[in-house]
Amino acid sequence: MPRTLYVASSNQGKLREFTAVARPLGLRIAPLPGLEQISPPPERESTFEGNAREKAIYYSRVLPGEIVLADDSGLEVEALRGAPGVHSARYADDARFLVPAPDSSAPDSQTAEALSASERNNLLLLRQLDGTPENARGARYCCVLAAARDSHILLLKQAFVSGRILAEPRGSGGFGYDPLFYLPSLGRTMAEISLETKDALSHRGKALRALLAEIA
Ligand code: IMP
Repeated sequence: MPRTLYVASSNQGKLREFTAVARPLGLRIAPLPGLEQISPPPERESTFEGNAREKAIYYSRVLPGEIVLADDSGLEVEALRGAPGVHSARYADDARFLVPAPDSSAPDSQTAEALSASERNNLLLLRQLDGTPENARGARYCCVLAAARDSHILLLKQAFVSGRILAEPRGSGGFGYDPLFYLPSLGRTMAEISLETKDALSHRGKALRALLAEIA
């Protein structure tokens, strides 16, 4: 029987990525049972590592004796001194409180309501980088993956992928900031490449392969 690792995420894209990497290593991936019924931990840490640790320890209490995996990831933009960082998922919504009106660079509330969270985030990012030259638009995605059992961290892996933020979105694949995240080595954005290519070079794919290889 292959060993089962439980992932503290109901994101189908993440579960698919985890399964694709785990299977050849003889490991089985399953979502943490009953995840929807468990209220999530606060994720108030200021680093990806802190949040990944917190989530893995928290969710490992649900399944005594089993290995539970949790990740935290996001985008860091050089010209914004590392923002959105740990605020990546709710960047534009958090910025509404952080940036005072009326000259707010956050999307205005009427426009914002018609957009998805990702679209709001991307719009804010573009506005913040307006006028920033191409050579100052460097960015990276970061992922920290943690494995825990019975409230103890067993392993932690961090990985990055570097790129540049475009002035306009390109492509319809991926999610989040992918249409703006340009990979100079491929001449494409993360939203213009196949899932297989993204898995091979992404921050999450790299962290996952390193962690699962060690567990296997
Ligand atoms: P979390 O790790 O699920 O909390 O994701 C944090 C946020 O970071 C996501 O909601 C996205 O905004 C951003 N992010 C993380 N990884 C990626 C990626 O591979 N592509 C695009 N956005 C990402």
